[in-house]
Amino acid sequence: MTSLFRRRLVVAGLALPFSGTALAQPLTCGATTPPETAGPFFKPRSPLRASLVEKNSASRKLVVTGIVLSAQCKPVARALLDFWHADESGEYDNQGFRYRGHQFTDAEGRYRLETIVPAEYPGRTRHIHVKLQAPRHGILTTQLYFPGDPGNRRDGLFRPDLAMRMAAPGVGQFDFVIEA
Ligand code: FE
Repeated sequence: MTSLFRRRLVVAGLALPFSGTALAQPLTCGATTPPETAGPFFKPRSPLRASLVEKNSASRKLVVTGIVLSAQCKPVARALLDFWHADESGEYDNQGFRYRGHQFTDAEGRYRLETIVPAEYPGRTRHIHVKLQAPRHGILTTQLYFPGDPGNRRDGLFRPDLAMRMAAPGVGQFDFVIEA
């Protein structure tokens, strides 16, 4: 059995517990998720929380789900994901922690972020920043994008391989591959 074939079997086995949308998309692993700049607005010590939605917010909701995999296509349990993004006006909260939060993947490597759709801001298309870290490994800093957003073409940092798959408006999916 070639190693590629074996990898396909492992991936097929992994895909079974997940929903129809996950099954429809082959899991991507092998190459790690590309890094991108953190930009100037990262703040350490974000709160532990999976939902960044503010009380009484009328902004468009966004749910992002996915799994964190190693390059060997194994789910990474207890991986740290620290998200931060601009608000509905394209501003970052640099005083407090609005739209900042970290969480850990579950035993199957899954994460689920609940938040709002961030606005673009001068020079940048719509994006979500994230730092990921497997236990006892280095940090991957990268960004997620919205496929088909008109601003993508004007932003030199945009990469199609960092665009989420949108199952519906406001429902994004992205699997990360990290050193683990
Ligand atoms: Fe940014």
